Amino acid sequence: MMENTQQQSKPLGRYFTYQEFEDQFLPIVQSLPQDTYTFSYLGSSVQNRSIYGLQIGHGKLKILAWSQMHGNESTSTRALLDLLQSTDLDQIIKGVSLYIIPVLNPDGLEDWTRVNANGVDLNRDALELSQPESLILKDALDFFEPDLALNLHGQRTFYGLNNSVLPAQLSFLTPSGDSNKQVTDSRLQSMSLINAVVEQLSSSMGAGIGRYDDGYNPNCWGDHCQSLGIPTVLFEAGHSGDDYSRDQVKGFYLESLKIVISTAKRNMTWSDDTETKYFNIPEIHKSYCDILIRNLSSSCKSVDLAVMYHEQLIEGQLCFIPMIFAINEPSILYGHRTIDLTSHKTYNDDLVISEDMEVSSDSLKIRSFIK
Ligand SMILES: [Zn+2]
Repeated sequence: MMENTQQQSKPLGRYFTYQEFEDQFLPIVQSLPQDTYTFSYLGSSVQNRSIYGLQIGHGKLKILAWSQMHGNESTSTRALLDLLQSTDLDQIIKGVSLYIIPVLNPDGLEDWTRVNANGVDLNRDALELSQPESLILKDALDFFEPDLALNLHGQRTFYGLNNSVLPAQLSFLTPSGDSNKQVTDSRLQSMSLINAVVEQLSSSMGAGIGRYDDGYNPNCWGDHCQSLGIPTVLFEAGHSGDDYSRDQVKGFYLESLKIVISTAKRNMTWSDDTETKYFNIPEIHKSYCDILIRNLSSSCKSVDLAVMYHEQLIEGQLCFIPMIFAINEPSILYGHRTIDLTSHKTYNDDLVISEDMEVSSDSLKIRSFIK
């Protein structure tokens, strides 16, 4: 059954099929020391793809982590696979029972969409439980009764840190558990874990780390867990520069997982300044676009064009297509790449904007690419 697993497969890129995921994940599971893990089939997605649960470690502290409930947020799953292959995995799981559900939305992954195959956003289905994938997560919560929940996501390239030129490479949230956004014990516990990540990661690796909005929505799983008194940390993989494969961010994400697990193991408590420190983490807001083209001359005026890459699966490959997103939009302050046309004389020859707003220019190297 495992005859092909001896050859080293190359790490997953930004897009992969569910089959490619299984081809990586299942051999990783089989390579774990036998007495350290329990592996189970939890059920199937709408389109009948298997969803798995892997529990590693037998420690007291129970941590549940699920990834990619939004199908087009793959950095979370890739970081989990890296965690499972870490050379210090035995140390990481010492004292912990870590229960992982990688790719909760396999159909969304396959089609590179946020929603599942019925068009439902699983992260708005925590109360209704209308989808098979939601029921799998609910069953895991009921069965495992975690002391800590890690809700693993990724976000688009829009986000920068408030009052800063830094893009958000990662953002975190301790979701609210009620509409008054009360700072409960479980929120304080998760705040202290997030503070530990910010302290350790931004100093040692210079990562841009932001805080996600804590508006309450009981249909979201993080908010739901927190309302049950389960400390919950929501992770968002962000973006900077030309890291469209998100390999750099994946490294930060992996380190964050390790910091959260090791801090939670030491203690799940908080101090007097935990809340202040948490709310001092800069909030994220939409201040970025992918390419900011400044000072384009257009009928005697000069305009700024914000270009965003549209992610589209074409013949099984993830294409990033540059599209006009906004013109002279004051809230967009920065580009992951900025081109000021006052210093470019030749662009007019080849800067083309198609009818459906796709942008291309050979001289400015604006073109579609595959990741
Ligand atoms: Zn998400």
